[in-house]
Amino acid sequence: MAEKSKVVTKYATKGGAIVNVVQDRLYDDRFQWECAGCGETGFRRARTYANQDGQSHAKTCAALPLD
Ligand SMILES: [Zn+2]
Repeated sequence: MAEKSKVVTKYATKGGAIVNVVQDRLYDDRFQWECAGCGETGFRRARTYANQDGQSHAKTCAALPLD
C-alpha cells in the first residue's frame, strides 16, 4: 500500500533538526509541516504557505533532534 503522505520539502533548523513539509496523497491540497526537533506541527491548505511556515519555524527552532 502506498504511503499516506509524501515529503515535498525539507528545511534544516537552526538547531540542526529537520522540518518536513508533507503532502497528503489523498487530498493534494493538504500540507502539513512537522519539526523533528521539537515536534511542533502545522497544517496548511497550500504548499506555499506550508513551506513559509515550516521555513520560518526552522529559522527560530533551536531544538536538537532526538536520537
Ligand atoms: Zn521545532
